Amino acid sequence: MMSKVLLINPWIYDFSAYDFWNKPIGLLYLASLLRMNGADLFFIDCLDPYPVDFHNGQENLKPKRKPTGEGTYLRHLIQKPDCLKDVRRHFYSYGMTPYHFLRSLKSIPVPDIVMMTSMMTYWYPAVFATVRLVHQAFPGVPVVLGGNYVTLCPEHASKSGAEYVLPGPAELTIPALMKNLFHQDMRFLPDHNNLDSHPYPAFDLIRHPDQVPIMASRGCPYRCSYCASHLINNQFRRRDPIRVADEIEHWHSRLGIRHFSFYDDALLIDPPGMAIPLLKELIRRNLPTRFHCPNGLHLRDITPELSNLMFKAGFKTIRFGFETSDDLRQRSTGGKVDNRELIEAVVCLKRAGYRGDEIGVYLLCGLPGQSAEEVKESILFVLSCGARPIIAEYSPVPGTGLWKEAMDASPYPITEELLFQNNTLLPCRNDSLTYEMVQTLKLMCRKPDLDLQRDRL
Ligand code: SF4
Repeated sequence: MMSKVLLINPWIYDFSAYDFWNKPIGLLYLASLLRMNGADLFFIDCLDPYPVDFHNGQENLKPKRKPTGEGTYLRHLIQKPDCLKDVRRHFYSYGMTPYHFLRSLKSIPVPDIVMMTSMMTYWYPAVFATVRLVHQAFPGVPVVLGGNYVTLCPEHASKSGAEYVLPGPAELTIPALMKNLFHQDMRFLPDHNNLDSHPYPAFDLIRHPDQVPIMASRGCPYRCSYCASHLINNQFRRRDPIRVADEIEHWHSRLGIRHFSFYDDALLIDPPGMAIPLLKELIRRNLPTRFHCPNGLHLRDITPELSNLMFKAGFKTIRFGFETSDDLRQRSTGGKVDNRELIEAVVCLKRAGYRGDEIGVYLLCGLPGQSAEEVKESILFVLSCGARPIIAEYSPVPGTGLWKEAMDASPYPITEELLFQNNTLLPCRNDSLTYEMVQTLKLMCRKPDLDLQRDRL
């Protein structure tokens, strides 16, 4: 009989990492489902910026957190994997130390089963290390591994040491596993196609909920060739916007949350079906809440009405996926936006009250065959529109439309070793887009002295 379930959000091992309103929402959705089916839950978030006892006498190691719920993680230096030893950057473990993790494990009863999530493919060493420590602390207790890395690379994840590796949505795979292991039917099961039938994520398990994420939809109707959205969620599904507002009000009144991040891939697509009724409802409820959208929002549907509603509803952090001003590349990668749409959107957003530096526009850098010149032109274009360009280094993702091109373009064996998919390496760089050039491009974004920067590339 399954009763005690330990849920774990593992560490990150990387050259850099920043908490842009990250929370393991998928794991916490699963937690809620298990709880409704009678499980006792224990949760260890290895990325918790405030692990128990950690800060006693270690004030200098405190992460820098903002009141809005973003900030740095705890981190400590670790040895670089052999294949990355020539990269002249430090390598860190982000999150609590293994000592504190083991202490957390020892502070709870032996669970019947452990369930872990995962994120980026190239963070797998931290996942493997977490599984090893769990086995060390709880020999014989089965570990179940899910999450994005598992969904994208199930075969690779099968080497993690976890007893069960489950790609895809947990609500579709966990019931059969529970039946198999514990001869127990999960009596409460949501309808996979009805997102409103899912219980709210178990955010009460977060020890310091400085913000919580909200998911109003899953998936995206577009198929951009650099994006893994359709591999993670093969359908575009949405909730009832009023139910989304209900959830926001619930977390505000139950946990006092004021800052919410939207995790949707396509929050602004078809605004009458989601964004407009949701924003109107948030304005009507007049809660002291603020919203952050670190995932790129769609520019195409920005109108004066939508911009005004976003501003009035308290959407503070707005980031848009534009990726490039190169017309050919826009069309060849999926055609989600064009230059005219960015110009018009920025006008609408500014009229609504946003400052130019608040309108963040992501530009992909390091796509296969891309030159620094193309990225520079894109930066200049975004600046000329009066918005703020933000460089996002491209990370090739297995199974996406660009994967084959990425494999051909990369100087690294990105299929054989997932660590080479890390965007810090610029895995698809070439002679016309080097690390040094990318540093100059980033400087252009931060200090847009156009004439000076134009000469530097
Ligand atoms: S990049 Fe954005 S628009 Fe394109 S598929 Fe991904 S989520 Fe959808």
